[in-house]
Amino acid sequence: MIAHSKPTLDSADAAAVSAVVASGQLACGPRTAEFEDNVAAYIGATAGVAFSSGSAALHASLVALRIGPGDEVLLPSYVCTAPYTAIQLAGATPVLVDIDGRTFNIDVEDARSKVSPRTRAVIAPHMFGLPADVEGLTSIGRRVAIIEDCAMSLGTRIGDQRAGSRGVCAVFSFYATKMISTGEGGMVLSSDATLLDALRDLRAYDGREAYAMRPNYKMTDMQGALGTTQLHKLPSFIERRREIARTYDAALRALGHEPPLAPLGVDQVYYRYVVRVPSADDFIAAMHVHGVDCRKPVYKPIHRYLGSDACPVADDVWRTAVSIPIYPSLSNAEMAHVVRSMTDVVRALKSGAQF
Ligand SMILES: *Cc1c(COP(=O)(O)O)cnc(C)c1O
Repeated sequence: MIAHSKPTLDSADAAAVSAVVASGQLACGPRTAEFEDNVAAYIGATAGVAFSSGSAALHASLVALRIGPGDEVLLPSYVCTAPYTAIQLAGATPVLVDIDGRTFNIDVEDARSKVSPRTRAVIAPHMFGLPADVEGLTSIGRRVAIIEDCAMSLGTRIGDQRAGSRGVCAVFSFYATKMISTGEGGMVLSSDATLLDALRDLRAYDGREAYAMRPNYKMTDMQGALGTTQLHKLPSFIERRREIARTYDAALRALGHEPPLAPLGVDQVYYRYVVRVPSADDFIAAMHVHGVDCRKPVYKPIHRYLGSDACPVADDVWRTAVSIPIYPSLSNAEMAHVVRSMTDVVRALKSGAQF
């Protein structure tokens, strides 16, 4: 079976982790600080604060922004449950917003319609590597802080800016199968000195005079060292993902099928290669028979967990979007097998009158 998703690791990664183990300095320290500086420089932010996961980074950014009970935070329904959980952990009220069916990103007009006097922030994930409309979101309310969720978009460029440099802060994840990997890990980048101080304060719970709730969300130096070696390879990772995407695009066009959106002026990273089909479940089952693991790119929209049907576009995308294997370590032979399988499946489903 060709895996849906996989980290891309080599001997330089292993050597970096071994060196930390040999040094005896394992906890959050100089290698984590170095990784923070490297990611901040890459994105173009003043500084970064590393956390144990993207989820922890999301929660920490809400707390650092002093968002809590009585406050509302907007988020799209079509995303994993991590941002929703972070808002709940902060004690704030999540408000679900529908998505744009073309970009899979938060719908700005629907977000605007859900702003209330209590709205303090919007969490805007750049889904699958395609940037959300941050400029549009700045117009929904003066007091609404934009938290960019870049867990799927490390490296995406919009003109000459990187995703993650336009909101009040940006949150990243380095989970095993994200753009780069530290096993588990996350970071908040910002250019707001007060916010950066609050984030650092939150992370250091020991030896404090006054008590405040400071959950242990620290990254280890083993992860920090791995993050830096992975970040060095990010340009080649992105290049390989684009190469695979171009191959899949050509195969789909040859079948008369629409490839994923590629907006002008955006250099996306193809964290996921997402195609619309009449039935995601049928497509996934047929690809499995060919030995290719495809997935729904979002397991279930959040409103569905809550038994609501308030986000019809997210529902439609949930039923019809599939994610096809794309990662730097996918070999040319595997890529060719995916193309052959996709071609067979699209043709078969077409002749079965489903396409
Ligand atoms: C992966 C992901 C997260 C959570 O990151 P973890 O490191 O797994 O906690 C949050 N938001 C989005 C959009 C993600 O893809």
